[in-house]
Amino acid sequence: MTSSSTNMKNPFTEITQREHAIALADTRMHGWQQALAASQKRQDDISRLIVSTASSGLACQAGCWYCCYFKVDAHAEEVFRIVDYVKAKFNPSRAARLQEDVAANAKTLRSLSPEQQLSANLKCPFLDDGKCSIYDVRPARCKTFHATDVDGCKQAYENPTNLNIPGSLVPELFYAGEAHLKGFRQALDDSGYDVSVYELNSALEMALADATPKRRFEKRKRAFVGLGR
Ligand code: SF4
Repeated sequence: MTSSSTNMKNPFTEITQREHAIALADTRMHGWQQALAASQKRQDDISRLIVSTASSGLACQAGCWYCCYFKVDAHAEEVFRIVDYVKAKFNPSRAARLQEDVAANAKTLRSLSPEQQLSANLKCPFLDDGKCSIYDVRPARCKTFHATDVDGCKQAYENPTNLNIPGSLVPELFYAGEAHLKGFRQALDDSGYDVSVYELNSALEMALADATPKRRFEKRKRAFVGLGR
């Protein structure tokens, strides 16, 4: 190993360290909600920059929805931001339909094993006319998911039990997104907040029903009792 290679920093480690420092300061100074909004904006800026210089172009576009039938993992703070967005932007009939769809999906998922959940092909309750109705606040898992070839997404949608269909990621976009999220989660963890992973529908069902999960989160307790890992 040469001295120059030992001095070279992994760019993804740098992203994690930088995001951790900024998000930790933001969380302590402004609270977790502002820290999350700012962190999600930074992630979008990084993604745009990488996409503009990536060697392979993205196949993802509005109206393409194959990946919106997958199981979505989310974190508590993301779920609360989505609920606030729904309350501010959805009209009463759309909000009522959302609550029904979320409850139906959560019930179906409860009846399935973790392996079966991966191939359930349930329509995301936020998918409207082929588009994400919460695009600006969609979970990080959706933000890091992307493809350079739509055929793999289509095949995975049409053959949900085949979990070996290869994806077509832009590696630097995926790893930069993961590194960014790792930094943010470390900052929340260091501040004492719940960083468990929850299934989106099940957590939303509880967060839409009442404010108990959010109150628990703000008291630095596990937000969704009985869910997550
Ligand atoms: S939240 Fe939006 S992007 Fe994510 S699965 Fe649902 S519709 Fe698709």
